Amino acid sequence: MLSFSRRVVGAVALAVALPLAATACGGGGDGGGGDTIVIGTKFDQPGLGLKNPDGTMSGFDVDVAKYVAQQLGYGEDKIEWKEAPSGQRETLIQNDQVKFIAATYSITDARKEKVAFAGPYLVTGQSLLVRENNTDITGEASLQNNKKLCSVTGSTPAQRIKDKFSGVQLQQYDTYSACIEALKNGAVDAVTTDEVILAGYAAQTPGAFKLVGGTFSEENYGIGLKKDDTELQTKINDAIVKMEKDGAWKAAWDKNLGPAGIQAPAPPQIDQT
Ligand code: GLU
Repeated sequence: MLSFSRRVVGAVALAVALPLAATACGGGGDGGGGDTIVIGTKFDQPGLGLKNPDGTMSGFDVDVAKYVAQQLGYGEDKIEWKEAPSGQRETLIQNDQVKFIAATYSITDARKEKVAFAGPYLVTGQSLLVRENNTDITGEASLQNNKKLCSVTGSTPAQRIKDKFSGVQLQQYDTYSACIEALKNGAVDAVTTDEVILAGYAAQTPGAFKLVGGTFSEENYGIGLKKDDTELQTKINDAIVKMEKDGAWKAAWDKNLGPAGIQAPAPPQIDQT
């Protein structure tokens, strides 16, 4: 009896020890199994997620991610940042290449089939950015006249254009900064994505671009994480609530998005479902 239970305990201990050892050897690429945490964000979106020339990270998403990491027990020096382009976010999470993603990531039912979300921590909406001297694009309706529009592969704005505006010539790139280059050099007539993202680019090059047409969707930014990891989801939700309550949320907004000229909205209610 005794030896039987000992064998069972031994087998269980071995079964537990092996995956732990495998995780520890995985280094930084395991989504944060060791003493570091790997966080996905954008590297090219000023005001939200930006990798600066000196290697430091800045932006509202970055500050939210840092706050959350701190609450999970990881100081800034324990964070490893991984670029998370729109079209790769679900895969990065599903393959354990990141622990979580804060990257202008809209909560949608389609994405919830593959990943889970904490939040929302910010609400914005799809809009349009054109060159400052443009007069013929004033809103979504003017896009139908065969306009060349740029957005990003795997993003909700690109999907909305494909679904609703058949008269648009949609050009899809991997990043919004590539779309901004195309807008600058005249290859496209407009860039479409969330207003906060477009405002960040407009602020980066004063006098070059303008936002038009208001917003025509509701985008709820969430923090993406592994599906069914309800423990992490709850911890991240708690961190977001704390950040909103202690003033850090508003301070992060003012610091990162204030220069882009958008007033801080009220932080959204957390969706606990
Ligand atoms: N929020 C939208 C999305 O998640 C657009 C911004 C982005 O591509 O990151 O698709």
